[in-house]
Amino acid sequence: MISLKRNIKGELVPARGLRTKLSSMYAPNQIEEFKISRSKFNDFLKCKRCFYLDRVQGLVSPSTPGWTLNQATDLLLKKEFDECREQQIPHRIFEKFGLDNVVPFHHKDIDLWRESLHHGLQHQVENSNLVLHGGIDDVWVDLNNQQLIIVDYKSQSSSKPVTKETYLFGAYKQEYKIQLDFYAYLLVKMGFRVSPIGYFYVCNADRNVDRFNGRLLFEETIIPYSWSIDWLDQQISHMTNVLNSDHLPDGNPACENCAYAMQRTRIES
Ligand code: SF4
Repeated sequence: MISLKRNIKGELVPARGLRTKLSSMYAPNQIEEFKISRSKFNDFLKCKRCFYLDRVQGLVSPSTPGWTLNQATDLLLKKEFDECREQQIPHRIFEKFGLDNVVPFHHKDIDLWRESLHHGLQHQVENSNLVLHGGIDDVWVDLNNQQLIIVDYKSQSSSKPVTKETYLFGAYKQEYKIQLDFYAYLLVKMGFRVSPIGYFYVCNADRNVDRFNGRLLFEETIIPYSWSIDWLDQQISHMTNVLNSDHLPDGNPACENCAYAMQRTRIES
């Protein structure tokens, strides 16, 4: 994909490929607090080298356009769930999925928890200057036991039915699981009692209708997921070591971006 750098007026400007804001870069062994978002942690899991080039060396990855249709479903769902939160009533779909005793969680910081860019759920790693954060889509609460439930909205369009037996299969869905694991880790570390089951609220646009007529028809399904956080401490410790190292880690041999860059360098030279 060709990505062009523009200023806020939409005018093309030279792309330098390097960060200018020093606070967004980590200096190995720095003592000042440094924030790592869920998406940067996911970058670390995918490729230590790119993570290091970004966070320590300040390399800027090409930008990608926003997923505006997904954002629209997220926004509208948020409005629905906020109405239920206000009245402390179950959402219209809960009964169908056996969640009669669940309501959206009311907390003074819920808007901050959903703000992924600058806030989100936050936890300062023990004996470390790293602060992990991640913006969650929603938190519900089970009124039977007062445990919090982690929720992530997903929008898609697939001709295959969404079922709890098949939805989380495949390498691509591994990242979804990591996402819920990460949020569960943060909520647990923040001192909340968290239900061992989180949910994906999946909105699947029907491709099989006869006409568009200016509308997409979505089927909504709630998919349970038993999160796991045992693996995270070790990875966070590994990430800390990478950040504090002067050594550029190896890349991921499966990465198409690196293959493209190497082939391009070969051809141009
Ligand atoms: S392997 Fe891919 S992700 Fe890693 S450094 Fe190269 S371009 Fe970046």
